[in-house]
Amino acid sequence: MYNKNIFKIYITLITLVVSITTTDAALANSTGLNSSFPQTFPPPDLPPPIVPAWSALVDKSKYPKVPPNPGGYQCAPGPDTYYWGLTYDDGPSENTPGVLDALAQRNQKATFFVIGSRVFQNPDILARIVKEGHQIGVHTWSHTPLTTQTDEQIIAEMKWTELAIQKAVNLTPLYMRPPTGDIDDRVRGIVQQLGYKVALWNHDTFDWKSFSDPKYDLNWIPGNFTLWATNKTATTGVISLEHDLYNTSASKAPAAMDIVKANGFTALQIANCVPNAPAYVENVVLPNPASTSSPSGTSGSSGTSGPGSLAKPSATETRYVINVLAIFSSISSKTGLLFLNLVALVFVQSPGLGERPLKQANR
Ligand SMILES: [Zn+2]
Repeated sequence: MYNKNIFKIYITLITLVVSITTTDAALANSTGLNSSFPQTFPPPDLPPPIVPAWSALVDKSKYPKVPPNPGGYQCAPGPDTYYWGLTYDDGPSENTPGVLDALAQRNQKATFFVIGSRVFQNPDILARIVKEGHQIGVHTWSHTPLTTQTDEQIIAEMKWTELAIQKAVNLTPLYMRPPTGDIDDRVRGIVQQLGYKVALWNHDTFDWKSFSDPKYDLNWIPGNFTLWATNKTATTGVISLEHDLYNTSASKAPAAMDIVKANGFTALQIANCVPNAPAYVENVVLPNPASTSSPSGTSGSSGTSGPGSLAKPSATETRYVINVLAIFSSISSKTGLLFLNLVALVFVQSPGLGERPLKQANR
């Protein structure tokens, strides 16, 4: 009797899992990303709703005493090598393609820290960022300073953005940047438990002021780059902060790229500042401009090749399915956690649905 009931539960859950994934895939296929995102994702520029199953991923007893993650803050491995981590925040936007064009013309790579709510507004632009070998990092859903939010709100900001990126490009970033650089031990502890490295910057153009402050001189952007690039006494490399959200700041991005190149720096993705550091959960190898043997087939805006090989696409699908299930369980039942635990059993024991235990697959 007991075994029979367990079997029935398994069958029900498997049916549910298949129906959810099938429905969602069908929705994405039939409507396209642009139209399907607003139906299933929160509104932009507002803190997204809390999902209890996601909140349960973080053990509060493990913070606030969390040290900064190693790496990610500096971008120069040695005195003879000049690496420059170009970073662009707050997109993807209508101004991002111009930045991508300029990067492609110079064979430079960069990291884009994206806003989750803008991912569903511009999924095609996000896909182009990936296709051209740049790195994507999480910059939250609503850009609300994280230290002003509750634990659950912080987790929701991260996971909604993660889910949007997964849906758009089938990738799960390993790097995040807190809006305005606002972070403390509590926030650091939460995002690290969610699997993220924190990537700040050490050179700020303050270009974000250009959109609202009429006194901001756009020439300050290349002016700052020149100062930084010609400072030969610097003991660390550069991670510069610019924004691809505004047309004002984005218009000066090409000039800044030229200065980086003219002064002998290699512009690359933050993940490549630390040799061979992964950028995503999935097994994707980013092209590395600092390596003479790096793959070159990913530059340019045409073609169908990706940033590298996706060795385990099924792992991507598994994480995406688990995120969808987490939302479903929180909505459908107050005992959502129990539901998720039962689903975990299905994942562990059903070779057709997942290859890894839930604890590894979920992040
Ligand atoms: Zn920002």
